[in-house]
Amino acid sequence: MIALVRNITFVLFIITLSLFSSLSKANEITSQTLSTLQEKALTSTLAYDLADSLTTEVGARLAGSEGDKKAVVWAEQKMQSLGFDKIAKQAVPVRAWQRGTIRAHVTSPFSHQLAAVALGGSVPTPINGLSAELITFKGIEQLQAAPKENIVGKIVYLSQAITKNKDAASYGKAIRNRSYGAIEAAKKGAKALLIRSMGTAKSRYAHTGAVYYQKNLQKIPAAAISTVDAELLRKLEKYEKPITISLNIQTNEKTWQTSYNVIGDIIGSEKPNEIVLLAAHLDSWDLGTGAIDNASGVGAVLSAANLVKQLGQPKRTLRVVLFASEEMGLRGAKTYLKEYENQLSQIVVAAESDLGAGKIWRLDTRFVDEYITHADDVYKHLMPLGLQRGHNQAFGGPNIALLAQSNVPVVSLVQDGTNYFDYHHTANDTFDKLSLKDMQQNQAVYASFAFVVANSDMVFK
Ligand SMILES: [Zn+2]
Repeated sequence: MIALVRNITFVLFIITLSLFSSLSKANEITSQTLSTLQEKALTSTLAYDLADSLTTEVGARLAGSEGDKKAVVWAEQKMQSLGFDKIAKQAVPVRAWQRGTIRAHVTSPFSHQLAAVALGGSVPTPINGLSAELITFKGIEQLQAAPKENIVGKIVYLSQAITKNKDAASYGKAIRNRSYGAIEAAKKGAKALLIRSMGTAKSRYAHTGAVYYQKNLQKIPAAAISTVDAELLRKLEKYEKPITISLNIQTNEKTWQTSYNVIGDIIGSEKPNEIVLLAAHLDSWDLGTGAIDNASGVGAVLSAANLVKQLGQPKRTLRVVLFASEEMGLRGAKTYLKEYENQLSQIVVAAESDLGAGKIWRLDTRFVDEYITHADDVYKHLMPLGLQRGHNQAFGGPNIALLAQSNVPVVSLVQDGTNYFDYHHTANDTFDKLSLKDMQQNQAVYASFAFVVANSDMVFK
């Protein structure tokens, strides 16, 4: 009996020993492989080249436009050449809104032409335009609090400025003015909405972005004026005379079109049903070529997947989703959520690149408390790339935030957004704004994150 116990103990000892040695061997390979991966990613031009290709060969790609259709073909072809194992297109119904001409003039107390752009989705003014007195509020809260009789028949102007922040906090606070300003102004009988551009550069490039309307409520035309022209209006207000504006915005909207989420998988060798999801959005605004928003993100996540694949098949599936129509109502993400609702539990973790092309400086997570130590495990592999450890209330990104609402664990690989809003949503969002060095750091962070999680057993919920 004692001999048997001794034998069992010995066998257990041997099993434990071999288990430890294989584990430490695996870890050794992983950390060695990881540093090889990081070295390669920090010198590869792949993400930068992909962003160059998308902005040059496709260019502007507003949802539902010809450019958008070309972008879908581009994405499929790139995924094929980058070695994805499975590529799928998911149909997404999108609005095909088109910008026409715009003229915005101050007619009193002095005559000035304003640099303005229609907000995305705006209805047109009558063909001959409209003229009205301007009434200024800082933001949507002040507009909501104002008496209707002061506003009826006027053009509402929301003057709130945004400031430069590393983490885009100022934009996050002001975005309601652009998204919902036309609804609140219409409730009070306004003829049109103007907003100060949500930009941080002193520039005459105005910033577009989506405007939303409410059913059974008048849809009023909406535009943004440049930050420089916003400063002009501020000066005109000091004369304490009525400011009148003449506005002519032409836009049109075709019937709904079909766009696509483009989804590429590198199928896991051991756990193909466990998915590490990296995201960006394929559509852009129509004014520039969508370089920082979001060709840089598309480049970073595609190249990250390719770099991981070059090291061999990961244990878990690595999925890249290039979402359709993020700018016009997150339609791609909503479709993904609806159609893959039953498979959301397969997503181990999701991350999205959509704050420009600046250096990634912080890791935020949104994991259940029980697995918060795994955030440290992930972080230690990203620290050499210059990241700080952030909080556990990660936003995730505009598309991924919708998944997070359905309990998908997310991380934010937070980019330095200090200069992002100098160009964001303007005609000046072009490839020359991208820095190769920052793009290399971005692809290194995404590749490292994907490699570590896709080759581990870590869970976050
Ligand atoms: Zn974006």
